[in-house]
Amino acid sequence: MRTPLVAGNWKMNGSLAANKALLEAVAQGAVKGVECVVCVPYPYLDQAARSLAGTPVALGAQTVSEHASGAFTGEVSAAMLAEFGCRVVLVGHSERRQIFGETDAQVAAKFKAALGAGITPMLCIGETLDERESGRTESTVARQLDAVIAAAGIAALGKAVVAYEPVWAIGTGKTATPEQAQEVHAFLRGRVAASDAGVAANLRILYGGSVKASNAATIFAKPDVDGGLIGGASLVAGDFLGIVRAAAAA
Ligand code: PEP
Repeated sequence: MRTPLVAGNWKMNGSLAANKALLEAVAQGAVKGVECVVCVPYPYLDQAARSLAGTPVALGAQTVSEHASGAFTGEVSAAMLAEFGCRVVLVGHSERRQIFGETDAQVAAKFKAALGAGITPMLCIGETLDERESGRTESTVARQLDAVIAAAGIAALGKAVVAYEPVWAIGTGKTATPEQAQEVHAFLRGRVAASDAGVAANLRILYGGSVKASNAATIFAKPDVDGGLIGGASLVAGDFLGIVRAAAAA
């Protein structure tokens, strides 16, 4: 039995005042039976850690350096995130891949760095519109997943979460249909199962891409969808909590 997980990715949004209200509301509205995570911008880690202490909501970050320490100006290590109580970190979000040029190998190194600090990596993978339209959805997500398995080993996926996020659905208002999501989730689980059936059975695969309270229930009802990674809707407590409740109901 996989516990549903709903994670919010605030991206580069927030302010001390707005965060306070949002964190308090999310912590108060968390429901039993659904794990809840908020991935905040680095400068707000301390504020969020204090605000979420003693609540069921876990703290997450949005990226991490693949390096342990040293002359990497502007970077933040996994050990630093752990010191702030981060339990989860996104790796390979499509914005990091597309805007900042992160490669599969770099994402795999970040994945390993997170695990090394005891933080759960949430591996984000997904195809572009062009890749989908040219029939390359499966080969794309397989390549992204295989790069991590090759670098970290199949057992490492047992300590991780995967988020399938079609790039064409992120922040666009276009959501994958529940059937499209299920198809890719089942493909990914099957690919993991080919190496380790136990890891595959326990692996949580979240869907991300324009999830809202109004469309979450039908997506989460699919058998291989174990929750969601939520961008825009995670910035409004009522919207995010509506999605958390949909996960509980599913
Ligand atoms: C995301 O940033 O991971 C995401 C899914 O964004 P949105 O929900 O806004 O599409």
